[in-house]
Amino acid sequence: LAPSNIHAIAPYQPGKPITELAREMGLKPEAIVKLASNENPLGVSPKAYEAMQDALEDIARYPDGNGFALRDCVCRKFGLQPAQVVFGNGSNDVLELAARAFLAPGLEAVYSQHAFAVYALVTQATGAVGISVPARDFGHDLDAMLAAITDKTRIVFIANPNNPTGTLLEKQVLHAFLQGVPKTVLVVLDEAYDEYLSSELKSEALSWLEEFDNLLVSRTLSKAYGLAGLRVGFGVGSAPVIDLMNRVRQPFNVNSVAQAAAVAALEDDEFVERSRALNQAGMAQITQGLDQLGLGYIPSYGNFVSFHVPMAGDVYQQLLKNGVIVRPVAAYEMPDYLRVSIGLYAENARFLEVLELILKARS
Ligand code: PMP
Repeated sequence: LAPSNIHAIAPYQPGKPITELAREMGLKPEAIVKLASNENPLGVSPKAYEAMQDALEDIARYPDGNGFALRDCVCRKFGLQPAQVVFGNGSNDVLELAARAFLAPGLEAVYSQHAFAVYALVTQATGAVGISVPARDFGHDLDAMLAAITDKTRIVFIANPNNPTGTLLEKQVLHAFLQGVPKTVLVVLDEAYDEYLSSELKSEALSWLEEFDNLLVSRTLSKAYGLAGLRVGFGVGSAPVIDLMNRVRQPFNVNSVAQAAAVAALEDDEFVERSRALNQAGMAQITQGLDQLGLGYIPSYGNFVSFHVPMAGDVYQQLLKNGVIVRPVAAYEMPDYLRVSIGLYAENARFLEVLELILKARS
């Protein structure tokens, strides 16, 4: 019944839920270690939790469809004008709003090989053609991406840092790329993992918005802010771009509990800093462990790392049998890699311990 572009979509494969594996194994959920979806192992900011509980009182009412309080909070925090911000049901929704507003059959979107899977999905859903540009050292090859732009291109998607490779583009390189992109093409710069970067590496893209009307920066509350289950993200761009995205947005796409929690989470810098510090320590722990096991990995700027292991699909299954969920990335054209999210110290240790046992049993 559906058109061929819908049939051609390869469904998104989320990380296996803890409850599903616990049921399959007859274990309590606490016995499972999930390092599969780049979630925040610290959970949620206590302040955001409190805000959620307060918001439940008003659950019979529709949410504020314009997100006034959340908009005010985001604008104050990042020095923006209200008309520059659009909210999404997670940043995936922001990516989809961009696709729905700017793509159509006969048009094209450009993204990198190994880039976040949702770019291809939202592109194909509109009937537009996705152009996947071969990566360079697992990262975006911006010269090749520039060369891939045609008069049909309307969006270029860039993930910085990228998931699942964890690669980061240098600020000057990215800025030069933006200068080269035609003004008729929207650059969607997905910065889902920006909060994990050290202060000198953090993005400056929000300060480039005055220079580039065709830039949309996407951020999420799902990672360092710890609200993945609530679904809140936002896009920041020029007022005309945001206006077009709002036209295709569902009126109440971000629920009221999520809006209230997001305000509290955005105001809790201390929680975000703790999340960043924990991630830095956990990244060192996991990469040292991988070094000791003799496994190569792609140096990562996110809260996850993709490591090289022969017969990755088999290793994934064996990790599952031991109650450890990681993420296969074969669908990203990385069949010999697995991606592990950085967890709490004990979770990282458990992952490394089980991985070592699996590798030893093989040799
Ligand atoms: N962009 C990137 C690069 C991601 O890795 C993710 C999460 N996997 C997202 C966007 C979407 O996150 P969310 O919809 O939870 O905001």
